[in-house]
Amino acid sequence: ERYRRGLPRRGWEIEVDGHRYRLVFGDLHEHSEISRCRRSTDESEDQSYEMMRSVVGYDFGALTDHGYNFTPYLWHHHAKRTRANADPGRFLTVLAQEWTSTFERSRPTHPYGWWGHRNLFFADPWTRTWDNATEGKTPEALRIFLRRRGADFLLIPHQLADRVNVPMDWSTHDPVTEPVAEIYQARGSYECAACPLAAHHATPPGWYLQDAWARGHVVGVVAAPEHHGGYGLAAVYVDSLDVPALFEALRARRSYGTTGAKILVDLRVAGAPMGSVRPESSGPVPVRLRVWGTAPIETVEVLASNEVVQRWSGEGRVRLDLEADLPPPGGPTWVYARIRQVDGHMAWTSPVWLGTVPSPKEGDGRGATSPPAGGSAAPATGERPAASAFPKAAP
Ligand SMILES: [Zn+2]
Ligand SMILES: [Zn+2]
Repeated sequence: ERYRRGLPRRGWEIEVDGHRYRLVFGDLHEHSEISRCRRSTDESEDQSYEMMRSVVGYDFGALTDHGYNFTPYLWHHHAKRTRANADPGRFLTVLAQEWTSTFERSRPTHPYGWWGHRNLFFADPWTRTWDNATEGKTPEALRIFLRRRGADFLLIPHQLADRVNVPMDWSTHDPVTEPVAEIYQARGSYECAACPLAAHHATPPGWYLQDAWARGHVVGVVAAPEHHGGYGLAAVYVDSLDVPALFEALRARRSYGTTGAKILVDLRVAGAPMGSVRPESSGPVPVRLRVWGTAPIETVEVLASNEVVQRWSGEGRVRLDLEADLPPPGGPTWVYARIRQVDGHMAWTSPVWLGTVPSPKEGDGRGATSPPAGGSAAPATGERPAASAFPKAAP
């Protein structure tokens, strides 16, 4: 399966306002044997990058070992292997780590622990230090710390509703530094509790991506494998294959996630590409969707405010060009697409937001206008864990 996924899928482009973006695929969440959690099966850094670059044919990749597993020696080794495995113009590597919260002591407001798991990406591949979440910073303190160092960075939350590790605390989400989240990864989907391929060992509703959207968060979509090249893939529309362009594309949420297949998707809502935020929304909403699967397509669904509002059957075809008019939304809404192939592979796009204006203020933990009615309850913000809370290793 991993070798079959290596089939090249290059040259797909979209045009937005006269500007061309090309689609690139990559892995933004992978552990090497530096991480202690699955050292017996995870590959070395060189093996992982070789697999991404030459076997599965990815355009970019990042190794995200746990902050708590680095020593100064291992961090410099990690940064050197990240720089050495880049093939400029052909394969982009990004210096990264996982910022893994492991506070397990529960409170009524945080029954599964504190803050959640994020991957941290540095634009500068010569960044000299990493950060260990178990030392007790809050996500906001981490952001302040990184800004003071002058770092250009991104954070990507993952395993959003996992209850074995620490799920994502959406009250600490920052729309500026956390533009996208993993909707799918090795553990399964965190779209919603009752959604296709939903992860096992999950929390009740409240921590999923649909819950974040219902709270008013503007956060886009990627997917990632996490361990030994498993399932999950990020697809990003970039200007060029370098870190500034990749960061720009992720900050614009011009991205989607798949279960691993290189499914090609172009979603336009009211003419705007995936990830866009449009303030106005009056009248019917035209949706156009171009899909080129890697197998016959079973269904294509369009969801508005987390409800399926349009469904097509693929009728055994691999390529589809679909159009529909959605009824006027009558308030803030977010529209995204979900594709399922007959071989079980899926893709989820970043939404297009209509009638939502994201807050320009950083770190207010909200990021957008008040959520529309009907949003599910989400974990509330609370006090910091007591200093005696003891860390527990998490995969
Ligand atoms: Zn994690
Ligand atoms: Zn991880």
